[in-house]
Amino acid sequence: MDNLSDVFMSGVAIIMLLVMFCFAFMCFYMMIVNIIDKFKPASKLMSCESCERTISTNAYVCPHCGQHYGNSSAFSSITVCFFCGCVFLFIGLAGVSLILEEYGYDLLNLIKKLFN
Ligand SMILES: [Zn+2]
Repeated sequence: MDNLSDVFMSGVAIIMLLVMFCFAFMCFYMMIVNIIDKFKPASKLMSCESCERTISTNAYVCPHCGQHYGNSSAFSSITVCFFCGCVFLFIGLAGVSLILEEYGYDLLNLIKKLFN
């Protein structure tokens, strides 16, 4: 039953890698969304959460009541997204190379068995 557990482990590893690549993709996607958010012109308006007066969506602070908005952290979230994306991508690629190595090793063993 060694072969069955090998197949199961390979399946689990491949699913984990797919999840890693999905996380990497999501991080890079969020980074791009953040960059677009940061550089788009301040044309949209919204109502303030605390005083409900009309303010710009790019406002860091409401000019009427002083309510703070998280826009100033846009740069750090871009950096965090980029960093996380790189880490997940690296783990994914490292896993792919490990799996390929594993299959190459198995293939070699199989050939050896065939010739013996
Ligand atoms: Zn306000």
